[in-house]
Amino acid sequence: MNWEEVEKEALSCKKCELWKSRTNVVFGDGPKDAKTMFIGEAPGFYEDKQGKPFVGKAGKLLTELLNKIGIQRNEVYITNIVKCRPPNNRDPLPEEVKACYPYLDFQINHIKPKVIVPLGRHAAKLILEKYGLEFEGISKEHGKVHEVSTLFGKIYIIPMYHPAAAIYNQYLRPTLEKDFEAIRNLFK
Ligand code: URA
Ligand code: SF4
Repeated sequence: MNWEEVEKEALSCKKCELWKSRTNVVFGDGPKDAKTMFIGEAPGFYEDKQGKPFVGKAGKLLTELLNKIGIQRNEVYITNIVKCRPPNNRDPLPEEVKACYPYLDFQINHIKPKVIVPLGRHAAKLILEKYGLEFEGISKEHGKVHEVSTLFGKIYIIPMYHPAAAIYNQYLRPTLEKDFEAIRNLFK
């Protein structure tokens, strides 16, 4: 299947229970040949309403963090582990993550990014383990550059704290800013 076919399928997907409470499927946003891919956890209230990832408060901070390292939001591809909003923003259940995973896997293999930035511990665990690495907790992994081999070549995985975490804990923002600097060098 090509990108359009997969996206079309996702937009009416009922492979897990999350379809029942969603307004819009949030497939992803950005160029399909982006060098850098950001992976969050799940759409929130505004994302569900607009059908676009990271358009709420966390998205505003993500855009600011990108701009600070000289990157425009429309230069990167942004998506989430699950494409539909969990009720009341609860964590996605393991079976929901599993059901939705083929979409993310397809997106990564099609985009073939040089850099993957998982946002938050759930995305960090999923992506590190996908490439055979052990996840030791986000407080250990944030800002670390992991080099891995994929079917489409050598890539870098740099886990970050979730921008939403920095909204609740203002002390995380300087850490996020510092960690984002690692992306700047690889983005060129
Ligand atoms: N948080 C996420 O993980 N993803 C979004 O799209 C918005 C907020
Ligand atoms: Fe389908 Fe993923 Fe939405 Fe579940 S979260 S209904 S698997 S698109």
